[in-house]
Amino acid sequence: MDISVVVPLYNEEESLPELYSWIERVMRENNFSYEVIFVNDGSTDFSWQVIEDLQKKSACVKGIKFRRNYGKSPALFCGFERAQGDVVITMDADLQDSPDEIPELYRMITEDKYDLVSGYKQKRYDPLSKTIPTKLFNATARKVSGIKNLHDFNCGLKAYRKDVIKNIEVYGEMHRYIPYLAKNAGFSKIGEKVVHHQARKFGSTKFGGWNRFVNGYLDLLSLWFLNSFGLKPMHVFGFLGSIMFFIGVCSCVAVGALKLTKMYMGMPYNLVTDSPYFFIALTMMILGTQLFVAGFLGELISRNAPERNNYKIEKEI
Ligand code: UDP
Ligand code: MG
Repeated sequence: MDISVVVPLYNEEESLPELYSWIERVMRENNFSYEVIFVNDGSTDFSWQVIEDLQKKSACVKGIKFRRNYGKSPALFCGFERAQGDVVITMDADLQDSPDEIPELYRMITEDKYDLVSGYKQKRYDPLSKTIPTKLFNATARKVSGIKNLHDFNCGLKAYRKDVIKNIEVYGEMHRYIPYLAKNAGFSKIGEKVVHHQARKFGSTKFGGWNRFVNGYLDLLSLWFLNSFGLKPMHVFGFLGSIMFFIGVCSCVAVGALKLTKMYMGMPYNLVTDSPYFFIALTMMILGTQLFVAGFLGELISRNAPERNNYKIEKEI
């Protein structure tokens, strides 16, 4: 099979028939063999009935129905598990992404040998409250992930080589960082294609509020940490702990030496608790020990994690 299209959706009943007939037309014109996997993420409208109707008419339609709303990432994860096409394309269900981009995305993966091609909504038809924070978000994501050529990490329209999606785990709200996940799994040929974007025709956005930015940054931080120290937590905690402890010990020596020299020289001396170094010593030693303990606990946990030896093997002969 050439292409699997994975479409996560939550309450998008109006868009689905139009989206499917559009995808079908593009596929037919280009002679692709394909499947479209609709993942119904606990919609409360008639989306699932619409998918069932489409499935009756065409064998290329597959549907997954979640019992409740889990989010876009879990929906993608389940779609990826079942995808069989050589190239896997993800697309939002709301008709903001155009299926006309599919042939070129397919070509970039198969001929230009990209692992992942992300859409870039250069001209966006979304309210300013979405576009401005998104610019900031993308700049940070570029910096942290080291993928310098991507302008739009969170574009719903992306194409992957099958290997990529079978080797990454999109969980929580990590769909924003799939290129980073892919890079961490060893897929580094990541490209970008400018895609057309349209205003939402039906329904409303499912990612409105501001908390998504806070959560988005926290997720980015976790990913960075997992990638850098996930397998060796002691390296970061132990390092910080050592620095703290060292400062603590130095302050201790300073406090002691100060008092002893004053005593020796017969000068009036005060209690060690009067010296600021005493408090620095105290805090640093406590913090240092705590960080060390955190490091050891981290090591214990990662030693027992089921995926500790889950390395991505590209080839075996
Ligand atoms: N979506 C989903 N589960 C959710 C929220 C959204 O499957 O919990 C789907 C939604 O139906 C759409 C896609 O994810 O197909 C992108 O959502 P939306 O268009 O609301 O986001 P925006 O384009 O406004 O960023
Ligand atoms: Mg949308």
